[in-house]
Amino acid sequence: MLRKRLGAADLTIPEIGLGTWQYLGGVQALRKGIDLGANFIDTAEAYGTENLVGEVIRDIRNQVFLATKVSPWHFRHKDLFQAVDRSLQALKTDYIDLYQLHWPNSTIPIEETMGAMEELVNQGKIRFIGVSNFSVAELQRAQAALHRSRIVSNQVRYNLVDRSAEVGLLGYCHENKITLIAYSPLARGMHAIRENDPLGILRKVASETGKTEAQVALNWYIARDSVVAIPKADSPEHVEENCGASDWRLTPDQFALLDKEIRYRQRGRVETVLRRLARNTLQRLGRI
Ligand code: NAP
Repeated sequence: MLRKRLGAADLTIPEIGLGTWQYLGGVQALRKGIDLGANFIDTAEAYGTENLVGEVIRDIRNQVFLATKVSPWHFRHKDLFQAVDRSLQALKTDYIDLYQLHWPNSTIPIEETMGAMEELVNQGKIRFIGVSNFSVAELQRAQAALHRSRIVSNQVRYNLVDRSAEVGLLGYCHENKITLIAYSPLARGMHAIRENDPLGILRKVASETGKTEAQVALNWYIARDSVVAIPKADSPEHVEENCGASDWRLTPDQFALLDKEIRYRQRGRVETVLRRLARNTLQRLGRI
């Protein structure tokens, strides 16, 4: 399993990690991934999988890079402190490697939230600060609110059929040494990718490389220096297949073919702004 530097930190993480949203694979599938070198597990207080992850890592805590997320309605200083303690208890550990703000929350000053995150670093409860679903402007504001720490990662949706992250964000993360953690990298199960591949390019490249279509899709993201991917798989077979997306690279021609021939959408700036306005309004109304 190839590894990549986490942000500007003096540490590497595997380029394929293990997602756990709606994860139903029990201890076995995640342990399989760890055994294969994918020792980076991503969970969140909102997923309901922290307890299970705690079981998975119980005897091997120091071999695992553990990432979880705090929900936006817990971004007040006091709430964030309570949230981290609940997560630590569920995860059965006394530290979290990467603590991520799950979504931006425009109703709570980012200075308050980031101040609390830095206190948690000082207390040793978390090692690194990450964010998720942040735009470039939100990343800049969040970073400016930190005094001693750097944001090491931004977790966003990025797959062959939704390439919105390429509009500004990917380049910004690369230039500023922020790891982009690609979520839903299989577009939630490969169907959407196949539907947008009328020429069967994925199948063609898979046959050329002797890899599977899922491995080719995953390799397409992790070919980028600053990108790691966190597919979710319930079965040990899928986990093993996903881990096999690492340790090799597509040729430039194969990369370009996938780039060009698979249909994708990219949210434009106007759509992105409108979605954020809608989210901010719902947050102000206390709906999310
Ligand atoms: P995903 O990883 O793109 O897709 C998961 C689906 O793909 C499951 O149905 C899984 O089936 C299937 N699958 C896995 N490996 C496969 C393979 N080799 N071949 C064919 N199908 C395969 O979607 P996701 O769960 O949305 O995203 C992954 C992780 O990202 C989440 O678990 C979570 O940790 C994170 N995430 C974060 C956010 C956020 O807001 N930060 C949002 C969404 C997701 P089986 O399970 O049956 O194997």
